[in-house]
Amino acid sequence: MINVTKTYLPDFDEYVSYLKRIWDNAYLTNNGPLAQELEQKLKEYLGVEYLSFCGNGTIVLQMALKLLEPAGEIITTPFSYVATTNVIVWENFKPVFVDIDPATYCINPNLIEAAITEHTRAIMATHVYGNACDVEAIEQIAKKHNLVVIYDGAHAFGANYLGKSLLSYGDFSTCSFHATKLFHTVEGGAIITNTPERDEKMHLMRAFGHRGDDYFFVGVNGKNSEVHAAMGLCNIPLVPQLIEARKAVCDLYTEFLDWTHLATPQWAQGLERNYSYYPVVFESEAKLLQVKDALGQHGIVPRRYFYPSLNKLPFLVNAEACPVSEDIALRVLCLPLHAELPHEDVRRISALINQHL
Ligand SMILES: *Cc1c(COP(=O)(O)O)cnc(C)c1O
Repeated sequence: MINVTKTYLPDFDEYVSYLKRIWDNAYLTNNGPLAQELEQKLKEYLGVEYLSFCGNGTIVLQMALKLLEPAGEIITTPFSYVATTNVIVWENFKPVFVDIDPATYCINPNLIEAAITEHTRAIMATHVYGNACDVEAIEQIAKKHNLVVIYDGAHAFGANYLGKSLLSYGDFSTCSFHATKLFHTVEGGAIITNTPERDEKMHLMRAFGHRGDDYFFVGVNGKNSEVHAAMGLCNIPLVPQLIEARKAVCDLYTEFLDWTHLATPQWAQGLERNYSYYPVVFESEAKLLQVKDALGQHGIVPRRYFYPSLNKLPFLVNAEACPVSEDIALRVLCLPLHAELPHEDVRRISALINQHL
């Protein structure tokens, strides 16, 4: 079977050598030495000053929203993974959906101002598939209306925009290090901020809001463990070569696929891609289903990612219509992509797709 992704596993003996250190210390969590070392390595790799290594890519979004209380409205994208909307609802904020740009599939900045009310607290947008949101336009709007900008950067690790990590934009950027992502710590995530005060709050918040006997505010358990940090320490030096290998796979898809009947997002000017996903958009949902079925018969499992458009989630009431996102969500499929995908498989998958267009 060829799945949409396959988790990269580092050298087993190297991982075991980290485990040996954990056993020797008998120190398994609570900001241990490996977690601190990984935090440092992540900051160096991304070129950012303030980063907190946390339990997953969802809790970090919750932590950013928690700082904004009392709750209000959050302007957000309908074209993302369900976690982006879930955290807004979970934290008792109201999601206000703004449709996406038909070229980049990121939130359309031209539609944001019309959605701002006196209750708006923040803009929470996703760098979807590692593409860059229009960070300049969003920052300008946020400044004018005194709003916080939170980027869900779960897809953005390793992508650069105008020579800096895409995760260095906004007031908060979050990241997921889940096993399905480009860089992973089995489960894990991080939050990147732009001031020492915010960074201090995130470090406190992930550890129940207290340090020793000093209690500051309501916190949560957002920490991650030494066992997870060890996986990250094995994987972080490999990121450049993983991106290189993914690029080779993506370039082959681009070469082999028949683009007369397919579309793909337009990557932002100034973006150095991380090749985290390979989305293709079909002419109709019927065509998508036909191709998905044909691939499935050959043991090839692409993923409808993202489907449905998040404004259509069944537990939301009176969510805004987002015609562009709803349309793309019906027609988009992410093709199998990982660093070790054999090039012969890319050729075969592309040929099967072309056959059914
Ligand atoms: C994976 C993902 C998340 C959630 O990350 P977890 O680490 O699984 O909690 C959030 N947003 C987006 C866009 C994602 O792709």
